Amino acid sequence: MPSPHPAIEVERLRAEWQVGDRADPGFRRACTVRLNELRALFRVQPDDFAPAMIAALRGIADELRLPAPRTEAAALAAALKATFGYDSFRPGQRAIIEAVMEGRDCIAVMPTGAGKSLTYQLPARLLGGTTLVISPLISLMKDQVDALEEAGLRATFLNSSLPPDERARRVGALRRGEYELCYAAPEGLEASVGEALEGVALTLIAVDEAHCISHWGHDFRPAYRNLAGLKTRFGVPVLALTATATREVMRDIVAQLAMVQPAEVRGSFFRRNLRLSAYKKGEAGLPQVRDAIVRLVRARAGERGIVYCLSRRSVESLTEFLRRHGVTAAAYHAGLEPEERTRVQDAFRRDAVDVIVATVAFGMGIDKPDIRFVIHRDMPRSPEAYYQEIGRAGRDGAASDCVLFYSYADVMSYDRFAGDAPAEIAARQRRQPREMLNLAERPGCRHQGIVGYLGEAIAPCEDACDACAGTDVLAAAPKVSRGRRGLAVAPPAVASVAAAALPTGALAARALFEELRALRRRLADARKVPAYMVFSDATLLEIAARRPRSEAQLLAISGVGPKKLAQYGAAILDVTRSG
Ligand code: ADP
Ligand code: MG
Ligand code: ZN
Repeated sequence: MPSPHPAIEVERLRAEWQVGDRADPGFRRACTVRLNELRALFRVQPDDFAPAMIAALRGIADELRLPAPRTEAAALAAALKATFGYDSFRPGQRAIIEAVMEGRDCIAVMPTGAGKSLTYQLPARLLGGTTLVISPLISLMKDQVDALEEAGLRATFLNSSLPPDERARRVGALRRGEYELCYAAPEGLEASVGEALEGVALTLIAVDEAHCISHWGHDFRPAYRNLAGLKTRFGVPVLALTATATREVMRDIVAQLAMVQPAEVRGSFFRRNLRLSAYKKGEAGLPQVRDAIVRLVRARAGERGIVYCLSRRSVESLTEFLRRHGVTAAAYHAGLEPEERTRVQDAFRRDAVDVIVATVAFGMGIDKPDIRFVIHRDMPRSPEAYYQEIGRAGRDGAASDCVLFYSYADVMSYDRFAGDAPAEIAARQRRQPREMLNLAERPGCRHQGIVGYLGEAIAPCEDACDACAGTDVLAAAPKVSRGRRGLAVAPPAVASVAAAALPTGALAARALFEELRALRRRLADARKVPAYMVFSDATLLEIAARRPRSEAQLLAISGVGPKKLAQYGAAILDVTRSG
C-alpha cells in the first residue's frame, strides 16, 4: 500500500468513518476495502500499529458488520428500479429483504419463478461488503454472474472450473472487497474456497436451493452439510432459499445452518401466468398424442419449451418426429453421455435449440426464465413432480402454456417401476400416480386443485386454466394434415405465446412485439448472451403495449433500469418511434 505511515491512514479512515454516510453502500464498501488493506499491512508490519490504532480499526470493523441503517420502503423501491429496472417487488420479496437488511437470519419458501435470487442480490448491493452465494450448480454460475454483470452488479464465482491464475486473480479481488457477490458450490467450501474467504468482509451468506442440505429433501447433497460452520465463522446473517416446503426439510435447514430465530417467509404457490390444460389420451375426437404435440409446438414456433416423456424411447422417437416437422428439437435423458447432455443444455440456454424433449432427468440445471411452454406427453409421477415440472415455465412472469396428456395406462407404467421397492416405498409409489390421475380428472379450477394439494387454499383462477376459461389450446393450434407423401404441416403461426397476453384487437402492439423480439435477438447475438439477459418477454410485452417514445417513458417500463436504458434505449426507441 502506498501509504506514508499506517498511523496516518488509520486516522484518516477513523475520521471519515465518523462523518460519512453509513447508509451508503458505496461508502461502506470503500471503508471495507481500506480496512482490509490495513489488515494486510498489519500482518507484515505489526510493529507500526499502536494498540489505540488497532482498537480504532476493530471498532470500525465491528460497526461495519452491523447491518446498514434501516432502508426505508421508498428507498428499497428506488434501489430495485435503479439496480434491476423493476417497478415493484413480487410477493414475499420485500419481507425477505427487510429481514436480511435488519441483520436477521431468514428462511424463505417460495415456488420456482417467484424471484428468490433478487432477495439476496438487492441486499448485496445495499449492504456493502460481499455476499457469499452458495449454489449447487456450477454449470449455472457463469450465467448467473453474466446476468448480474448485465444488470451492473460486480459479481464473480469460484469453482473447480477455473484455471489457477484466474482463480488467484479473483481471490485477490475478493479480498480487496471488489465484488458485491461471490458464488460458490458447497463442495468448494470444503477446501480451497473456504480458505479464499479468509479476510473477506462478508456481510451476508445466501444459501440457494437450501433443501439440498436436508436428508428429507429430494436432492440431498452431502457437501451442503459443510455449510454448518459458516454462520458461526463469519458471524453474519444467513438467508436460506428453497421451493421445497415440508416441515421436516425446513427444520433441518434451520438446524444445519445454525440459524438463530430466523424470519420465516412463505410465498404463494399459485402461479397465475401458467395457463394449465389437460387432455386424456385416447379420448374420442382427440388426435394421436404425438400429432397433438407437433401441432402445439408448431403453433409456438420460435418459442422455447420442454416436452416431458416417461421413457427414453419416447424421448428419442418424439424428438425425431418433431425434427421431421421442422422443429429444432433435442433429446435429453440419463442414457446420454454426460458431454452430450451438457451440449444439449448449453444449446437450449443459448437459444440454439427451441424444444427439449426429455425425461425427468432434465431438471435442476434449468434456470431459463423464458420457457414459454411445458408439455407432458405422459402423466408425471406425482402432483409434486407435476408442479415442479410445469414450474420451469414462465419464470419471467409472462404467460406460458402447460399442457398435460395423461391416461390410466401411465399409472400402470409407474406401477411396473415400483416393482421391487420395500413395502412402504412401494405403497407410496403406487399412491402418487393415482393422486396425480385424480388431480387431472378432478373437475373445477386446475390451479385450485394443484395448489390445494400443496396445502394452500385459493379462489378459482377464472382465466388461467381450461376449466375456468373454457379454452382449448389444441383446437386453437393449426392442424397437421396427413398428405400422401407423409405429413404436411400448416405454416406456423407467428404470434407467440407471450403475445397472447396482448388484447386480440391490439394488432399493432402484436406486430411491434414481434419486431422487438427480432431486435432483442440481434442485440443478444451481438453481445453473445441469451436473449432474456437483454430484456425479458414480460418487459418486451410492456414496451409493445405502451409504445414509449421517449427515454423517460421507456424508463417507466418494468425491467428497464438506467443500465439497460443506456445500453439498449436508442435501439428500442428507434423501433417504437417508427410506424
Ligand atoms: P426463483 O429462484 O425463485 O425460481 P428467480 O430468482 O430465478 O426465481 O427469478 C425468476 C425471474 O423473475 C427472473 O427472470 C427475475 O429477473 C424475475 N424477477 C424477479 N423479481 C422480479 C420483480 N420484482 N419484478 C419483475 N421480475 C422479477
Ligand atoms: Mg432460484
Ligand atoms: Zn382455473
